Amino acid sequence: MIRLISVSNYYKKTDTKSLEQVSVDIDQGEFVYLIGKSGSGKSTLLKTLYGQVRPTEGHVVFDSFVVNQLKNHELHQLRRQVGVVFQEYNLLDYMTVFENVAYVLEVTGVEASLIEDMVMEALETVGLKHKALDFPENCSGGEQQRIAIARAIVHKPKLLIADEPTGSLDPKTSWKMLRLLHKINKTGTTVIMATHEQHFVHQMPSRVIQLENGKVRSDRSKNHTLLILNNTMGEYYVV
Ligand code: ADP
Ligand code: MG
Repeated sequence: MIRLISVSNYYKKTDTKSLEQVSVDIDQGEFVYLIGKSGSGKSTLLKTLYGQVRPTEGHVVFDSFVVNQLKNHELHQLRRQVGVVFQEYNLLDYMTVFENVAYVLEVTGVEASLIEDMVMEALETVGLKHKALDFPENCSGGEQQRIAIARAIVHKPKLLIADEPTGSLDPKTSWKMLRLLHKINKTGTTVIMATHEQHFVHQMPSRVIQLENGKVRSDRSKNHTLLILNNTMGEYYVV
């Protein structure tokens, strides 16, 4: 479904090689943790997937799209298949929860008669149907992140990208967020989650791709991760 072929990216402005010869294949339906220290290239890699960064070398293939070759006006076709959430929730404070989620459907031209059901379904998935008519400022941080997730999945994307989605949340709320992302994955959506919080990996084991200085340091399948977990009685650190 996703194939990165020798992807390198150079940021001229800061003279940084943010990605170096990254090659990765991800199948439809996988849940992938993208880990690595701050500055290791996680956000840049994710941005190459949704066309925000055009890598200086290599190819990024998503289904039938060669993402790095898409023209700007073709990107919206790709983005119909992708949902993105960030550490910041980027909600519009003058809109209700419902409107924040509905808005993305309206701007992409979804038929008005479909919008209410689609929004309520997304809010149900994230457990916030009862908050539909509230404003974001009356929601907790965890709830605001769930609104952002509802907004990212309302158009039923094949791929959900989450870039440090728990960065502003306390541990208990982060754990709930992680479970929600795994629940969304169970419905068939591929999920790629960037995080520097390595303990997630053993809370809910899955494939782990580790970046270091823009390179893939390790790429471990779920089975491999579970094997290490079993052998070490839960004392698992990605080194
Ligand atoms: P991570 O998400 O793992 O923290 P990033 O992909 O954000 O890593 O950054 C990788 C490297 O690229 C860092 O050294 C960062 O300073 C640099 N970088 C990131 N974004 C930009 C940008 N827009 N312009 C210039 N340099 C950038
Ligand atoms: Mg980042």
